[in-house]
Parts: sequence; structure tokens; C-alpha cells
Amino acid sequence: VNQLYGGIIEYARQVKQQNLPSKFIGKNFVFDERVGERITDDVIARCHQCGTACDEHVNCANDDCHLLFIQCPACAEKMKGCCSEKCMEIIALPAEEQRKLRKGKKKEDSLSVYKSRLRPKLKPKS
Ligand SMILES: [Zn+2]
Ligand SMILES: [Zn+2]
Repeated sequence: VNQLYGGIIEYARQVKQQNLPSKFIGKNFVFDERVGERITDDVIARCHQCGTACDEHVNCANDDCHLLFIQCPACAEKMKGCCSEKCMEIIALPAEEQRKLRKGKKKEDSLSVYKSRLRPKLKPKS
């Protein structure tokens, strides 16, 4: 990983020097952030739910969601390890109900849900 990271830095330097268009850099830094690769010991991430400095990556306790997000221990307890109130409601349902929900769900839906939940909101607007 260190080698790869060095490679990106080197690539970035070359792009700057040669004035090349960079299609690569932005994506890679996003990728780095998502995976949470620790480059320094600083806590650079924040809990998605309360904003406390935190770099605990967890998967949503709702198996159907399973969103990878950042959640501090306090929110993990409060939200039962879920990314949103909706997921909390879902894991509170009986297994049979959860199965029904899963069946009725389209793939596109879960994708858009995933995108909209990069920064989960505690309170739905409606
Ligand atoms: Zn929190
Ligand atoms: Zn979730």
C-alpha cells in the first residue's frame, strides 16, 4: 500500500510538472478515504451521525443495507449499529418481514439508497 501511495504522489508530481490532465488523482483519494487506509496517526474522519472525530469503520447492522460508514461508539450504541433510523426499523422487524422487504427491493433502489446515505441523516424529511 505504501508503494502504491508513493506511486500516486509521484504520479501527481509528474502531472503537475508536465501539465498533464489528471483523471486519476481525485478518484484515488476518494478511494483512500473510503477504505480508511491510515496514512498518519491523526484521526481525520468524523462520525457520519454526530460529527465527532472518529475513524471507526463499521458495516450497517442491517444486512440488507450493510453500508460501510463511520460511526463512533456512542452512535453505535444509540443506533444499534445502524446507519439510519430506517435500518434500525428494519432490524427490529421479525426475520420473515425482513425477507419480504428484501424480495421486493430492486437493485437500482438499493444503489440510490447507498448513494444518498453516504452522509446518513438521522431524521427523514417526510
Ligand atoms: Zn457519533
Ligand atoms: Zn443501513
